[in-house]
Amino acid sequence: METNSQFTVKFWGVRGSIPSPGEETVNYGGNTSCVEMHIGGKHLIFDGGTGLRALGKSLQAEASPHHAFVFFTHYHWDHIQGVPFFFPTFNEEDCFYIHGQVPPDEEMMQMEEHFNHRVLHVNSPVPVADIRAQMKFHDIVCGETFQLDDITIETAPLNHPNGAMGYRVTWQDHTAVYCTDTEHFPDRLDENVLHLARNADIFIYDAMYTDEEYHNSKSPKVGWGHSTWQEGVKIADAAGVRQLVIFHHEPNHTDEILDGIAEQVKEARPGSVLAKEGMELSAIPE
Ligand SMILES: [Zn+2]
Ligand SMILES: [Zn+2]
Repeated sequence: METNSQFTVKFWGVRGSIPSPGEETVNYGGNTSCVEMHIGGKHLIFDGGTGLRALGKSLQAEASPHHAFVFFTHYHWDHIQGVPFFFPTFNEEDCFYIHGQVPPDEEMMQMEEHFNHRVLHVNSPVPVADIRAQMKFHDIVCGETFQLDDITIETAPLNHPNGAMGYRVTWQDHTAVYCTDTEHFPDRLDENVLHLARNADIFIYDAMYTDEEYHNSKSPKVGWGHSTWQEGVKIADAAGVRQLVIFHHEPNHTDEILDGIAEQVKEARPGSVLAKEGMELSAIPE
């Protein structure tokens, strides 16, 4: 039951890079990045990976009109592929507030043009004119802080090829942080990530790899823009996070592999969880 006093985080897509359906991934799910926050009666949506399609279906099952605030970290495929299949955009009663920063190589564009012609149109046969919902665009300058009424949103740049933006969302002294796609530094904790994560109730972190995979001499992943669960534990400890959520799972990690990682993460930092499709967490402790 949704109430105006809740602050929950729901996971609709938890994979990185590419959807990974199949019998070996049914437990954690194969859809790519999409996270929803229900905060004080508002819907906030982070990224539009393939998980966004199912989120749209759930929204359509609720009474119209629908209003949601959508935030993009960046525009790699695994964060936008669900956008053309988010069917509430075809409902003229609905309204979506689209937030993001255009990529550095397209800085002459504004978010509206970028969304219509880079996210939607080149990737979908459906004409942009067929979108009937009201679409309102907000260009974010990465690093800025802004308000959605009584919700405070802070942003910070992440260490990722072509850039990505992390979000810290605070309401009534509770905080959830969405921090993907990002790579740790070899010699220090990332000050931007530490700042976003400080004393957060929920800290969602890109832990695509294990340390062993990241440093594997035959196939190193250094410079690919992703981190490890071991680095997530370090940041969560240093920042005083309540609950660490391991996210952006490597598509080749089967349920069995992820169950193994979950055990290790819990041992290293009790209370930590691996994100799973359909999982819902509360940012307000019970
Ligand atoms: Zn990604
Ligand atoms: Zn990416």
